[in-house]
Parts: sequence; C-alpha cells; structure tokens
Amino acid sequence: MNEPGVLLTARAMVLHDLAARGFNDAAMVSLLEDAIAERQWWLDQWPDGAEHIAGLVAQDVQDRLVDNRIRWPRCTACDDLHDHELRIEPELGPNPHWVCERAGITVAPLGQLT
Ligand SMILES: [Zn+2]
Repeated sequence: MNEPGVLLTARAMVLHDLAARGFNDAAMVSLLEDAIAERQWWLDQWPDGAEHIAGLVAQDVQDRLVDNRIRWPRCTACDDLHDHELRIEPELGPNPHWVCERAGITVAPLGQLT
C-alpha cells in the first residue's frame, strides 16, 4: 500500500472505532487529524513502518484522550464492571486488534468495534 493509502486507511479505522463509542464529534476528529499528521512525518522517515501505522495511530489517539481524562474505547466485552479500556495488540505490528487485558480476550480488529 502506498503512503497516503496507509494513512487514509488508519484514519478510517480509528474514526470508525471512535464513532462506535460516540466519540466522533469535531474535537475528536481534529485530535485524530493531529495524530495522522504526526504519523505522516514518522512514515516519511521510516517508509518500511507502513504496516505499523494503523495500530500506532489508534494508540496515539488513545494516549491523547487519556490526557483529556477520556477512556476510549471502554471495554463492554467482559464481566468486569470496573471501568477499563481496551488495548491495541500488537503495540507495534500489522493487523492490530483490540483486546481486554483483564479478561485476556480479543474483542475486535481495529476498525471493527461495535
Ligand atoms: Zn474487559
């Protein structure tokens, strides 16, 4: 996949998962755009890192939301009633997916949260 394609795909996947949890307002989209812009620079330095981009953008957005005291995406997949968020695995690699670390389960591929 070429570079613009990688970033557009990452943007679409993360936007889908933000929308799945009701976080697709203008402020969230702007935060996502910032994360994409920074990864554009990163990808320019390391074109071979293309397969890692989607998972990294998801984690970038997650980190920025944590800074705003927002947990995203909340886990709704397990029985643990204590609020906790899903994590991306692998942290650096292709085919990123959301997992609940508490229950040790895979919840959904990135871009396919419900
Ligand atoms: Zn869970």
